Amino acid sequence: MLVVKKFGGTSVADNERIMNVAKRCIEDYKAGCDVVVVLSAMGKQTDVLIDMAKSINPNPPRRELDMLMTTGEQISVAMMAMAMDSLGVPSVSLNAYQVAMHTTSVYGNARLKRIDTERIRNELDLKKIVIITGFQGVNKYDDYTTLGRGGSDTTAVALAAALHADKCEIYTDVDGVYTADPRIVKKARKLKEITYDEMLDLATLGAGVLHNRSVELAKKYGVRLVVRSSLNQSEGTVIKEVVKVERMLVSGVAADKNVTRISVVGLEDRPGVAFRLFDALAKANINVDMILQSIGRDNTKDITFTIPRDMEKDALDALENIKDTLNMQDINTNSKVAKVSIVGAGMMSNPGVASKMFECLYNANINIRMISTSEIRVTVLIDEKEVEKAMNVIHDMFGLED
Ligand code: ADP
Ligand code: ASP
Ligand code: MG
Repeated sequence: MLVVKKFGGTSVADNERIMNVAKRCIEDYKAGCDVVVVLSAMGKQTDVLIDMAKSINPNPPRRELDMLMTTGEQISVAMMAMAMDSLGVPSVSLNAYQVAMHTTSVYGNARLKRIDTERIRNELDLKKIVIITGFQGVNKYDDYTTLGRGGSDTTAVALAAALHADKCEIYTDVDGVYTADPRIVKKARKLKEITYDEMLDLATLGAGVLHNRSVELAKKYGVRLVVRSSLNQSEGTVIKEVVKVERMLVSGVAADKNVTRISVVGLEDRPGVAFRLFDALAKANINVDMILQSIGRDNTKDITFTIPRDMEKDALDALENIKDTLNMQDINTNSKVAKVSIVGAGMMSNPGVASKMFECLYNANINIRMISTSEIRVTVLIDEKEVEKAMNVIHDMFGLED
């Protein structure tokens, strides 16, 4: 039996927690399992490193930022191996270079392409616990890359897939996946199980409990994922293809504050304009999310869309380059917005879910700025300061509480 166990920052924040994690891993090892451990940086170390970079250069080159951020995970894996040694159990820490975790070359948002498993297999054959840095990879230039904030989950699932692990357990600071972020919605309820598709939408729409690409990979390779707490023995949430429980209309509410809305005003109303605009953004590696195009008037039209807030500067630079070619009259940005979404497979066969959501926002006097929907989700863009209120009223409206 091979198990991949991933522990997030809070779970390895200090020596006491590292010891606690070491002991949990050793239990599985002593029970005869092959154990691969994936760790995040200790506590808020990644934030500390980003602040450190910005203290010397407000716009640090992305390559160098990755070089700096990857040190966070390297500290935690080395500390963990030392903890295990003190408990008399053989282990080895490995970083992305030593394993050979190959990624695409985009610094700060790289994707895992291939993981060599030979070194890991050899170390497991030597009866060691193998402790691997999450969040990082190596690109074709032999440079360190990172997978995007929260990316250690993806490292863990990718390793579980590559090693054909029997289980992939994600240990964090909450008991599992809830109907909404339990820190924002006090009445949120823990889900026993949830489908890959619903979890993927929730994660993509801001439920930071799992990195969205980890869910994508888990679905693709059929990795059975469990999210549970590193601080207690509670059962957690299982993420899988089909769930047994009766389908709820809505299974969760998520919010994302990493959003900026950009409006490009007065574009020429002719074929190819949207293509040129979004092509320029794609080439700058910017993920565009909600898109709204106004009805043309006087041979001009406006296009409004949302992007991750931390990409605002890159997006504006990319737009500036094509401003004249596309005859843009103006570019407006609003960074004080956020997305709130509901997700649920039950929506597919039940009309009226979206209007119910709009009704409760209306009752709470919250203005909707943009809307987008899919078969199993509804997303609205609202003012950032209304997010907590919106999540709570929506959660109550759909009866998601305990
Ligand atoms: P880790 O460092 O262990 O990766 P994260 O901070 O990345 O931990 O993820 C756990 C956090 O995700 C929780 O503390 C919680 O505030 C937040 N969260 C957001 N949405 C949800 C949800 N639907 N269910 C559980 N936790 C959620
Ligand atoms: N340490 C990284 C971060 O804070 C990766 C992770 O925690 O998954 O984003
Ligand atoms: Mg995380």
